[in-house]
Amino acid sequence: MARKMLQFTRLDPCQPAKRPAAERRGDFREISRAFEPERAGDQASRCEQCGIPFCQIRCPLGNNIPDWLMLSATGRMEEAYQMAASTNSFPEICGRICPQDRLCEGHCVLEQSKHGGVTIGAIEKHITETAFAEGWVEPVVPPRELAASVGIVGGGPGGLAAAEALRRIGYQVTVYDRHDRMGGLLIYGIPGFKLEKNVVERRTKLLAQGGVTLVSGTEIGRDLSFADLRERHDAVLIATGVYRARGLDCEGAKLAGVHAALDYLIRSNRADLGDQGLDPALDAKGKNVVVIGGGDTAMDCVRTAIRQGARSVKCLYRRDRANMPGSQREVAHAEEEGVEFVWMAAPEAVLGETKVTAVRAHRMHLGMPDSSGRRSPQVIEGSGFDLPADMVISALGFEPEDVPALFGEPRLKTTRWGTLTVDDRLMTSLDGVFAAGDIVRGASLVVWAIKDGRDAAAAIDSHIKAKPRDKTKDKAKPKPKAAQ
Ligand SMILES: Cc1cc2nc3c(=O)[nH]c(=O)nc-3n(C[C@H](O)[C@H](O)[C@H](O)COP(=O)(O)OP(=O)(O)OC[C@H]3O[C@@H](n4cnc5c(N)ncnc54)[C@H](O)[C@@H]3O)c2cc1C
Ligand code: SF4
Repeated sequence: MARKMLQFTRLDPCQPAKRPAAERRGDFREISRAFEPERAGDQASRCEQCGIPFCQIRCPLGNNIPDWLMLSATGRMEEAYQMAASTNSFPEICGRICPQDRLCEGHCVLEQSKHGGVTIGAIEKHITETAFAEGWVEPVVPPRELAASVGIVGGGPGGLAAAEALRRIGYQVTVYDRHDRMGGLLIYGIPGFKLEKNVVERRTKLLAQGGVTLVSGTEIGRDLSFADLRERHDAVLIATGVYRARGLDCEGAKLAGVHAALDYLIRSNRADLGDQGLDPALDAKGKNVVVIGGGDTAMDCVRTAIRQGARSVKCLYRRDRANMPGSQREVAHAEEEGVEFVWMAAPEAVLGETKVTAVRAHRMHLGMPDSSGRRSPQVIEGSGFDLPADMVISALGFEPEDVPALFGEPRLKTTRWGTLTVDDRLMTSLDGVFAAGDIVRGASLVVWAIKDGRDAAAAIDSHIKAKPRDKTKDKAKPKPKAAQ
């Protein structure tokens, strides 16, 4: 159906319906229902078709949002998909999990003018799901095969986006990952209620069908040396993410029952994927759970605990709601599902003899802004209180691992935060070794990892084409340990 644009004067913004909280507490399926096609088209027709589209400017990928909204509104769905896919390797993933309120939708002119922004993320998901249903999403077919090969360390969104882009040009691409499945945090970090596992697996299957070699269960630096990897490939991309958890720094932090957020989420995601023999200590069923932290990882932990059947779930955060780093949408979902937020409170100690029994916390107030402009939380003396707990989950963020040490390559330069140093082509201090995603930016977003992966692929292509080829590399075929 062809629609006129600028329908924001007539139509209010509307997101796809959410499943009722009581229903979604019982499973790990996505909480939003699919957009009905008519509704998606109507919502797309609200777009104002701005001359200077701030949504596009604030999308890290520079997606041509007004154009694919217009194509969707006028029923030209295949063209809408081609346009969405031309700038984004995984539009259905971004449509689901980008914090749109901080990116495209938050900067839509209609949002700024109080008409309510266009529901861009949900429409991006709808366009791509339509494309999958119609069979328009196909494995990559390169125009010609090139002899040169690229080795990618890390099968998260950064590594996979680069793999897709390089394979499209015709390179022989191998992705190595230490986990038994590809996807990085898309598969083992982000829970199914935000991003169902089959959505990620569908993409890795397409990559394999397109000729990308996926080698899981292989840790570079342990199962294959970094030097051998460089020997094997014409260029290397490091997309290893950031995994060193910032620990809880208080008395009792080592008691049984205190867990790191990612250990907890990986175990839950494995259960969701059907894995057996998982550690029962990491199951929140019947427990009083306290999650410490206020970012997206903390939100994923509290909502996972609810679904596992915890007796109570509390989130302890030292600032207030307005100053938390996590998405406000996620907080709202968590509250609907029964999570209790304890704002302006920080842990003083974890109590218990051998096993956690409670968290002792104190109240905070927000003082003067620090150098980053954020008001720093300060303890209110004598305000201590205890929260009963059988399980405490620390979700205080992540830092990079020591990649030069893990790879046995001290010439790999890092910043003072431990992220890899790269130049404007995303090349590290080593010739022909590039880096992308969280290991360059620090803990960030999927959409930025995709952007970096695509940019790194373009830089690797230029780098390889600018050099005379070392033909000895042709002999070095990767030996998949467990290709998916
Ligand atoms: C719990 C959680 C929830 C999140 N939710 C969101 C969200 O809703 N929206 C959003 O945009 N972002 C979210 N993020 C952030 C997002 O997941 C990351 O920014 C993104 O995944 C980074 O992509 P990446 O490819 O750089 O790294 P990763 O996704 O971390 O992938 C890196 C991969 O490298 C592998 N690897 C590491 N070292 C080696 C080695 N030596 N050898 C072989 N393989 C190795 C790892 O196993 C991993 O698979 C979330 C993060 C977490 C932790
Ligand atoms: S990729 Fe993310 S920021 Fe860009 S249009 Fe899609 S949802 Fe918005």
